[in-house]
Amino acid sequence: MLSKKTNKIQPVRGMKDLYGHEYKQYKMLVDCAVLAGESHGFSVMNTPIIEHRDVFVKSVGETSDIVSKEIYEFTDKGGDLLCLRPEGTAAVMRAIVSEGLTQSMPLKLMYYGEMFRYDRPQRGRYRQFRQFGFEHIGDKSPYNDATLISIVMNLLESLGVSGLSLCINSIGGQESRARYASEIRKILEPKISFLSHDSRIRLDKNPLRILDSKDKCDQDLCASIPPITDYLSDQEREYFANVCSCLDTININYSIDTSLVRGLDYYTDTTFEIKVDNLAVCGGGRYDNLLSEFGGPSVSGVGCAIGIERLFGLISVPETLRKIVVVIPVSDHDIMYAYNVFHSITGTRKEFIHIGDMKKKMQKANKLCADIAVIIGETERQSSTLCVKNMKDGSQEIVDSIGLMNIIDRS
Ligand code: ATP
Ligand code: MG
Repeated sequence: MLSKKTNKIQPVRGMKDLYGHEYKQYKMLVDCAVLAGESHGFSVMNTPIIEHRDVFVKSVGETSDIVSKEIYEFTDKGGDLLCLRPEGTAAVMRAIVSEGLTQSMPLKLMYYGEMFRYDRPQRGRYRQFRQFGFEHIGDKSPYNDATLISIVMNLLESLGVSGLSLCINSIGGQESRARYASEIRKILEPKISFLSHDSRIRLDKNPLRILDSKDKCDQDLCASIPPITDYLSDQEREYFANVCSCLDTININYSIDTSLVRGLDYYTDTTFEIKVDNLAVCGGGRYDNLLSEFGGPSVSGVGCAIGIERLFGLISVPETLRKIVVVIPVSDHDIMYAYNVFHSITGTRKEFIHIGDMKKKMQKANKLCADIAVIIGETERQSSTLCVKNMKDGSQEIVDSIGLMNIIDRS
């Protein structure tokens, strides 16, 4: 609560205030992502921040970090076990079923908003963070996997994010994964004492997740495990090859990373991750059984989520093209007239400067980097005119209110 050093009230650990330049980047990303999504037929669906905890247990997986360690859960006054949503995909699937949208396949939905995970706070890792996500449900086809990836890659590039690298993999379906899981058990069981505490539990409950371990010893042990691609069925292998060909056709560079299993249980076939300098900025993949987990039809989908905070500092926000107009009454007698003029100005950024002497007012106009100053003294007030000063070259004109709007439009 109070910082010991400064004695100031602090936000909750891992949560930060969003304002200023970061807010501009957030807004820019959301606006551009919505436009990009809309041009591919996606529409926005924003679900509640609070969900029943069960929404994430079966879908994301009881043994996933998200559910086993990171979920913010609580029982409300009515005794319901709820949580702050840790991710968006499962919530969107829940909403498709709850809202009766299952008859309108295929569905292309996008969402943005706050997610909550009791993660270890560090740069780019918060306990409240924001994601933008796309979900394309229905029409299982490698084209849709590749298109989704290309939407995100193009979006990030158009926002000025450089150094993007895309890794993809296929983790097949349930049967292939079960075969692979038993192979991992066979290889790692004799070495169980060298595994980290978490991975010993994973070996029993969900061995694939060991491949995702950040522990160095676990990673070394994983080097002896053959790649998951060796265990895919012919059909799964062909599907993955087709996703890769689609990416080749549209000139999206990628590398195949056979250890990319992702931390959420619902993925089947394609998984992918986009990184900038080793920091994941987007993760996603295909999910064959997620909608049916929620009582919907057995329809496959593909989706991904972009971590908005991880892009802060990487997005270029163009300087506003809007002119800054300041309205300055010369004396207190001119304030009301000037205030009225100030309110009649539209379509531009404007400030009303009425405190201090003329020198102070002009200093403030300079500090705001004003393009145009509308100065109103007794003469202007008596003749219903305005003195318009171009702050860049110092020239002045006397005009009426229509003349002012013309000057704003052409400058
Ligand atoms: P990581 O391995 O970095 O923990 P993850 O696999 O948990 O990522 P996903 O659940 O796939 O991440 O979420 C998609 C994206 O959301 C990530 O690529 C990342 O950009 C962002 N993200 C995930 N967790 C956090 C967090 N705690 N703070 C900020 N952004 C996050
Ligand atoms: Mg994580």
